[in-house]
Amino acid sequence: MTHYFGAHTIDTGGIHMAARRAGASGMKALQIFTTIPKFYGDKSSIKPERVDRFKAALADTKIDPRFVVAHGAYVLNTATPDEEKSARARGGLAKELERSTALGIGQICFHPGAATDDDREAAAERVALAIVYALEAVPHGDTRVLVENTAGAGRTFAKTAAEVAAILRHVPKKLRPRTGYGLDTCHLFASGYDLNASEHAVTRVLDDFEEATGEAPSFFHLNDSEGTLGSNKDRHMLIGDGLIGVDPFRRLIADKRSQNIPLILETPQLNYEPAEDDETPDPYDIQMMVLLESLVA
Ligand SMILES: [Zn+2]
Ligand SMILES: [Zn+2]
Repeated sequence: MTHYFGAHTIDTGGIHMAARRAGASGMKALQIFTTIPKFYGDKSSIKPERVDRFKAALADTKIDPRFVVAHGAYVLNTATPDEEKSARARGGLAKELERSTALGIGQICFHPGAATDDDREAAAERVALAIVYALEAVPHGDTRVLVENTAGAGRTFAKTAAEVAAILRHVPKKLRPRTGYGLDTCHLFASGYDLNASEHAVTRVLDDFEEATGEAPSFFHLNDSEGTLGSNKDRHMLIGDGLIGVDPFRRLIADKRSQNIPLILETPQLNYEPAEDDETPDPYDIQMMVLLESLVA
């Protein structure tokens, strides 16, 4: 059985350097931003040189592009009832898919945003509309568009299995294979899923999501949580340093559903400002990789 552990490594010097830093820590998966995440990125294409450098780095580090995730911009609010904002969000998601398809990577993930009108069903429809818009704008390629569950602050959407399922239900059947979802452990805990409730808690949460959506998650984000259960706080910590603790991660890794998909750390770095050409892995990433490998039975 194979576990594809990786991280959202620092991309100072370019996304190819993020890949090199991941490779240097023995990672087999990776998460990147293809553009600056605080902007929509709905106008930014990716330059062929950048694609080439990134592909070369993946080849050198032996990271299979199928296990690379691009994280969508945080500002993409596909759930909003504001037509102007949601049109920009759709455009941003389509551009994200275009850049990620050019990079040849397996998937993008995104936070659906906030349903500010409190109409959850309409919000689900709008998010699905954005997914469909992106998939139709980029009809070729194998890059999938995946919903990430959220910590549930304010009126953010997709914090429960039912909400994630509602989004996917609105995607036409023929496009469904190109979409899906992934789960962030910190977001699960913050939105009220007690991963510590019992020995079976993790399995039950995964069962819940699988039952509601009809499929298993397509990636995991492996983060401990600073915020308490149900606090809706999106504060990631090193695994073992937060309120989730190590045991639920051991159980997650023992579950078959964590195999053969990207398992991405979004945990703190010790050094946020490496030199552009410095591919030395972050000490915290090394520490997390040692921990994760020790949890594989
Ligand atoms: Zn995220
Ligand atoms: Zn995440």
